[in-house]
Amino acid sequence: DKHPLHYYLEDSAKKYGEKKALYFMGKELSYKEVYDQSKALASYLQDLGLEKGDRVSIMLPNCPQSVISYYAVLLIGGVVVQTNPLYMERELEYQLKDSGAKMIICLDILYPKAANVKAETSLEHIIVTGIKDYLPFPKNKIYPFIQKRQYQVLVRPEQSSDTHLWPHILDQSMGEFEPVEVDPVEDLALLQYTGGTTGFPKGVMLTHYNLVVNTQMSKRWLYKSKDGKDIVLGVLPFFHVYGMTSVMNLSVMMGSKMILMPKFDAEEVLKVIEKQKPTLFPGAPTIYIALLNHPNLNKYDLSSIEACLSGSAPLPVEVQEEFEKVTGGKLVEGYGLTETSPVTHSNLVWGKRVSGSVGIPWPNTDAKIVKMDGEGEADFGEIGEIVVKGPQVMRGYWNRPEETAQVLSEDGWFRTGDMGYMNEDGYFFVVDRKKDMIIAGGYNIYPREVEEVLYEHSEIQEAVVVGIPDPYRGETVKAFIVKKQGSDITEDELNEYCRKHMAAFKVPRIYEFREELPKTAVGKILRRSLVEEEKRKLE
Ligand code: ATP
Repeated sequence: DKHPLHYYLEDSAKKYGEKKALYFMGKELSYKEVYDQSKALASYLQDLGLEKGDRVSIMLPNCPQSVISYYAVLLIGGVVVQTNPLYMERELEYQLKDSGAKMIICLDILYPKAANVKAETSLEHIIVTGIKDYLPFPKNKIYPFIQKRQYQVLVRPEQSSDTHLWPHILDQSMGEFEPVEVDPVEDLALLQYTGGTTGFPKGVMLTHYNLVVNTQMSKRWLYKSKDGKDIVLGVLPFFHVYGMTSVMNLSVMMGSKMILMPKFDAEEVLKVIEKQKPTLFPGAPTIYIALLNHPNLNKYDLSSIEACLSGSAPLPVEVQEEFEKVTGGKLVEGYGLTETSPVTHSNLVWGKRVSGSVGIPWPNTDAKIVKMDGEGEADFGEIGEIVVKGPQVMRGYWNRPEETAQVLSEDGWFRTGDMGYMNEDGYFFVVDRKKDMIIAGGYNIYPREVEEVLYEHSEIQEAVVVGIPDPYRGETVKAFIVKKQGSDITEDELNEYCRKHMAAFKVPRIYEFREELPKTAVGKILRRSLVEEEKRKLE
């Protein structure tokens, strides 16, 4: 269907009205409440001068306001700019300047950051909200950024001509606004900045149709939605494209209840699964790994979980099998990028799955493997670059025609920058990012291959392999390891294990044990920051 994205909130509010749409640390909001509050905010923003195509930054963790704000901006034809609440001022300033956002909706604790950069950017208004607009400070430890005692003394700014407080908006606004005509195919809904594990963040332009289509594909094809009956666990952050589509928009489109977790805490997730009984749990490998390794895992009943989609990084086979055993549900791997709204491939929840494969292309999505030299298609099993085409592929990078032309051809094929291959059944395998391949002593080494062997070791919780500069071999292989609790495995033992299980040129030359590894908001291990640390050491 070619509707704008906000149509689905309106539709669910009509169909489901009093049914609960959100669960947030004990507080619930119905579809009607979410829709009414979105309209109230939309009307207020329009009165402040927001026009069709204007950008609004949303800098919030998962909470009722993040859902309400997102749909409010869309309702009046605005373009959402998702902003990571962990951004420091410098990063926020960059994003606001690059996107030209006129307004920002931010958490009260983050207000000083927005206020400090306002003069340097095109920001005209700051909208401020916080947990106290819905709840008392929670007893558990999952409210991010701030301790209870700090929150109690937090002074919010005053309501003024350029600063607006959430309760004031909801009190004041009648929820009426001038309807804005949105063309779902042509009009942008979102600027989603790339995660930044490589290079400078670029604003990915996604239209309403891009996002609607990708959400519909998950609803109808991946999960076979039981209209209104599912409960979706929202651990993935909505300010990232994966959580935004695969949790927030999916849940709204299905008329499900979504459970909002503002911060990842393994035990809180286990507790909420037992109490709230979610059926769908989109996540990432590191999330499932953290749950499986939690010492209290066996105390909780996780049997409500029916289906999980894992994306953003390779899913180790053991993790898939273990998680399925513990929950009794299915866990399938998918693949995608910010530039593709995000999903392009997945295995089937209720059909054929191939372990280690990211699955087959989604409906209406074409995918092929292009030879590494860029000339023609690769044979079955031959490694090349994964290239995709479909209704979920972005319009381009915001204000960056050259970068866009490098990845997007005129006839719509998008070069993912990932290396992979396809087997004779049409199943795709991601080998690694082109940029992550290590070249040591003339050999090509794919970090993922080495990591998979390490993950198979019973005493390893997390592993990441990077290439570090080496004067003789060009690069040398280094492994960062997080041991499982109680393990006292040594470097020598690991070395012996690797020598048994892989060709000598792939065996890491250096091992470093860490308590934890740096990760992005969706739990992807930040390979680049480890490489940079190593480079700094060599300087
Ligand atoms: P940046 O694009 O700036 O580097 P990022 O890595 O966070 O940041 P995303 O668009 O969030 O960008 O991630 C997309 C990438 O994630 C893909 O290109 C691919 O390398 C990786 N990825 C996603 N799913 C899988 C998967 N199932 N297996 C392996 N890699 C995956």
